[in-house]
Order: sequence, then C-alpha cells, then structure tokens
Amino acid sequence: LKAVDAHHALKMLEQQGFVQLTEAVNQPARVQLISNQQDLYQFQVANAQHDLLIKALLRLYGGELFVSFQAISESALSRHLRQSTTDVLRQLRYLHTAGVLHYHPRRELPQAMFTTPRYDAPQLPLDERRLKAARQLTEQQTTAVIEYAASTTRCRQQLLLDYFAEPDAPACGVCDVCLARKKARQAPVDTAGLQAGLLELLRAAPLLPREAVARYPAPEAATVTAALRTLVELGQLAYAPDGRLRVK
Ligand SMILES: [Zn+2]
Repeated sequence: LKAVDAHHALKMLEQQGFVQLTEAVNQPARVQLISNQQDLYQFQVANAQHDLLIKALLRLYGGELFVSFQAISESALSRHLRQSTTDVLRQLRYLHTAGVLHYHPRRELPQAMFTTPRYDAPQLPLDERRLKAARQLTEQQTTAVIEYAASTTRCRQQLLLDYFAEPDAPACGVCDVCLARKKARQAPVDTAGLQAGLLELLRAAPLLPREAVARYPAPEAATVTAALRTLVELGQLAYAPDGRLRVK
C-alpha cells in the first residue's frame, strides 16, 4: 500500500464516518520474554554483556514479562542501568532478533479507530453519490487550477471569478495577462517589421494562418492576423491548395 493512497483512503473513510483518525498517539514500548526462566538463565550466563539489561527488566517489570507483553520505558531502563538510551535500544533490538524476547519499540504514530462495527470490505456501505460528488469537485478544482496556470489570454482575476461562478467580472487590468495585453495595445505596432518577420517565417516553410499566429505571443494574435491579411491583400502571400500561406 502506498502511503499517499493509504492516507487518502483513510481520509475518505473518515469523511464517511467509518473511522476516526487521531494524530500521534503515544504508544509505550512493550516487551515479552519468550524463553522460560531456565533458558533465560542459560542465555544470561552465556551472554554476560546482556545480563544487566535482563536483570533490570525483571527488577522493574517482574515475572509478568514471561506471561504477556508489558509496557516498559526505555528511558527508565537507561536511567536504572546508567547507560545511554541508544545502548538500551540496541540491546533490546538484539535480544529481539536473538529470540530471547519480543520487543516493540515506543511509537508515536497516527492511529485509526473504527467508529462502527466492523464491515467486510465488499459490504462497506459507502455513500457512492457522495464519493462521486467529491471526485467531481476535485476534478473541477484541478482543471481550474491548470487553466489558471496555463492561460495567457484570460485575465487571472476573471479566471478566479469564473471558478466562483461569476463569469461576468471585468478584466482586472493589473495581472500579468492584463498587463501584457495593455503593453501590446500601447506599443506602436511595427507593421513593417512584423510583415518582414512573417514573410521570413513563411519563406522558410508555408504555414496555416493559425500556425503562423501561434509563433507569436498570445496578446499579439490580433495584430499578427491583421498583418497576414494585409500581406495577402498586397499579393505578397498566397494560399496554397492545402490552406497554407506561402510567399509568392
Ligand atoms: Zn487581469
């Protein structure tokens, strides 16, 4: 299970009221001794370096350790032994691998609690309509964000207001799109330069009018179209049978 998928699935189950998620529940470390007293004693004799820790465990948490998991505190052990917590952890992990005891380290993890009786997965009464609506909303939001970021022709503010269903808002006049449009309008159009550029472009390769327009920044589209039309009228450009414009 990928963490991101699991997270979203859990969030969805939470929205539908099946589980309750809690952040960081502190779970104490737990230990249970696997071997019986006899085997443990033999292990202690053979592995003197772990003798102190095992003794400390038994002193602090008693014989219950042989019976079931007991909550322990690694830091209490480390104080008792006057060893660093790191050392205590390392020894506990070693004893776990060696099969002397079960050791579950202290954990601070988010938890999911069931708030309803358990359902088998196929019987889980998910609210399909709500799921579908949530997905649709997410898709709409994503599309809107992509449009917003990709648009070079529609005022940013208008795009934002579109999203909030206010389609008739006026252009703001200050966003990058509005400013580019203003600049294009204000700059005296260098008609001759533009025409020369278009002739050069189309001499290199004939293009459909919209392809030629697309070579220029979006705010200049109207100007470029007008220049193309002028060049056709002047007879400097002609339409090829396939609709492309070429230099005569
Ligand atoms: Zn704007």
